Amino acid sequence: MDAIDVIVTKRDGRELSAGQIDWVIDAYTKGGVADEQMSALAMAILLNGMNRREIAEWTQAMIRSGARMDWSSLPGPTTDKHSTGGVGDKITLPLAPLVAACGGYVPQLSGRGLGHTGGTLDKLESIPGWRASLSNDEMLDVLGKAGAVVCAAGDGLAPADKKLYALRDVTGTVEAMPLIASSIMSKKIAEGTGALVLDVKVGSGAFMKNVEQARELATTMVELGTDAGVETVALLTAMDRPLGRAVGNALEVTESVEVLAGGGPADVVELTVRLAREMLQAAGISGGKDPERALADGSAMDVWRRMITAQGGDPDALLPRAAETMEITVPSSGVLSRLDAYGVGLAAWRLGAGRERKEDQVSFGAGIVLHAKPGDLVREGQPLMTLHADETSRFERALAALEGAYTVGETSDPDLLPLVIDRITA
Ligand code: URA
Repeated sequence: MDAIDVIVTKRDGRELSAGQIDWVIDAYTKGGVADEQMSALAMAILLNGMNRREIAEWTQAMIRSGARMDWSSLPGPTTDKHSTGGVGDKITLPLAPLVAACGGYVPQLSGRGLGHTGGTLDKLESIPGWRASLSNDEMLDVLGKAGAVVCAAGDGLAPADKKLYALRDVTGTVEAMPLIASSIMSKKIAEGTGALVLDVKVGSGAFMKNVEQARELATTMVELGTDAGVETVALLTAMDRPLGRAVGNALEVTESVEVLAGGGPADVVELTVRLAREMLQAAGISGGKDPERALADGSAMDVWRRMITAQGGDPDALLPRAAETMEITVPSSGVLSRLDAYGVGLAAWRLGAGRERKEDQVSFGAGIVLHAKPGDLVREGQPLMTLHADETSRFERALAALEGAYTVGETSDPDLLPLVIDRITA
């Protein structure tokens, strides 16, 4: 077998055989296929696509490139959630302890943010002492103590994806749907969860800008999970505006703790509870505590405190705050009809909440607090949002990102997406 044959097959719009897929993934992981050859193949896949069989075999080959985790020693079923990423999407923080409080075990491997969307690990690392890197034994220990663990994926998990994702990032091939689906699902299947709920975001602040693209990605991922024996379901959810009122690492931890204390913004609470019910149902857990009750009676908060403490964090510590703030006020009275997720995400990134290159440090205190959400009645001069940054020099570029990102009109925007747009099952 050689790389050129595989590239030419896909370049000419033909199907890759199982043998070709196994060989190319294995050889690429071991260095036998060069980056430029894999780039050409990724571009051929972006242009000509892959069918269901090819995507499933590609995913399995990426799983086989590394270790598969095993949670069979736990006394209950495992269940996890994966979001395709958005602005203000802190849902994992209240969700993982909430599901554990209702009887599920949540072994979640998460990532860091790149670009305008935040990463769960960056948010949790704003808690003093909290550690993202755990060995498998440590993960099992935290799961045993708290019922939920959120940590970084080790190098042994789907290493083919790690290499290929970095290559796609610099070759204009991130957007290939078969490669997105196999990238996400190879990691989630290798993680060893028994059930998986996918939160596929739709809108300006998400990967998938429209519902049709999102539905295609969700359907492909649900099929991949189901074929691999993982009970998988997907929700398509709105990311045309930010989720909740806080965007930025420590600001989002504060909002998550409000949700765990029984408060928090209505959209964050609604989506957290909905996803928790889906995760419990997918894991076959019924008759236990209802998620709404676990938020109200403090049991989800108890799990959060155990989970943070077990990973070296201090749940009572003061979180970092940015040194400088700037308020933006409402320009005229009316209804806030639009608040664009991408504009807000980009502004938060420029304030220091995100990183430009993988090796950059994020500012834990930086970000944006929203004082109004689309649909709210607003009055001229009232605060619309507060920007937080460590240096005042960051405000100018953040303000440029927010230009045209909000509209005050006479009525709500009829095109605003419903929070949960659709549910996709096998
Ligand atoms: N997240 C991933 O893990 N992989 C992709 O390809 C896109 C988003």
